[in-house]
Amino acid sequence: MLRTPSGTTRVAGVIGDPVSHTLSPTLHNAAFQATGLDWVYVAFPVRRGAAADAVGAMRAFRLVGLSVTMPHKTAVVGALDDLTPTAAALGAVNTIIPRGGALLGDSTDGDGFIDALRAEGHAELSGRRIIILGAGGAARAVALAAASAGAAAVEIVGRQPSAVAACTALAGSSGRGAPIDAVGDADVIINATPVGMAGTDLPFGLDPGRLSAGQLVVDLIYIPPTTALLAAAAEQGATVTNGLGMLVHQAARQFAAWTGQPAPLAAMARAGQQAIFSNL
Ligand code: NAP
Repeated sequence: MLRTPSGTTRVAGVIGDPVSHTLSPTLHNAAFQATGLDWVYVAFPVRRGAAADAVGAMRAFRLVGLSVTMPHKTAVVGALDDLTPTAAALGAVNTIIPRGGALLGDSTDGDGFIDALRAEGHAELSGRRIIILGAGGAARAVALAAASAGAAAVEIVGRQPSAVAACTALAGSSGRGAPIDAVGDADVIINATPVGMAGTDLPFGLDPGRLSAGQLVVDLIYIPPTTALLAAAAEQGATVTNGLGMLVHQAARQFAAWTGQPAPLAAMARAGQQAIFSNL
């Protein structure tokens, strides 16, 4: 049971629109409960265009941490005092950390992605050929993290040439655009599009016959837990995993930054799994 908030309870939260279906309160409140912290995490619906107001409210209310989700990840940047190198490179923030009276913006998605692969026991990305389907915010975070982890190639499949170019630039000399059929030559295939949240379509009309054993296929989607892509990849003998690990590990990094304590990963993962399966 969550403890009843009192006059000394500290408040963290998430801003976004929509925000009512986010799993972040589930993960963070499970973490506060597991560690015995008198903290509570709530979802704040903040309309598009009001990100700077929300950052001002964070200062006024002395919130101890704030997660940032769509559509505010870029819009909050100008309202913060400082950015981590990762957030500065991405031009996007998913985490606001109070530091000595100032607010620091960070982006934990990419490192959370790498942490999740490690925690699940997959091979390191160093020296491997990665292909990312999609060129939006998640793709950008993963492209930067994969390149930083030493990937030999970071290939991007996207519909908008300018978005693909921005994504490949983040990956430096290992980044390049690619057609969807290049999945056949990749070691790790990552779906960073929303295709798969509903229906049976595969991203970019991917041909499952190009997937094979020895490949790792990651879908950043976690609802449903098994997308059509993951089912097709498993049928071809590939190793598969969904986006829950990334979600938990990016939240774990937020918890550690806000509290100064290691995150209770098992409690957070358990809470996330329970929430997903109770909604199926
Ligand atoms: P985003 O910034 O809106 O980017 C979405 C990308 O997908 C864009 O490149 C978009 O291309 C592309 N796309 C959309 N519909 C497509 C289609 N039918 N065919 C091909 N490409 C399509 O969203 P995001 O924040 O990157 O999120 C992407 C996915 O990752 C979502 O499913 C989200 O839930 C998931 N995600 C998971 C985590 C996690 O922790 N597991 C974290 C972040 C995101 P256009 O620009 O051409 O539309």
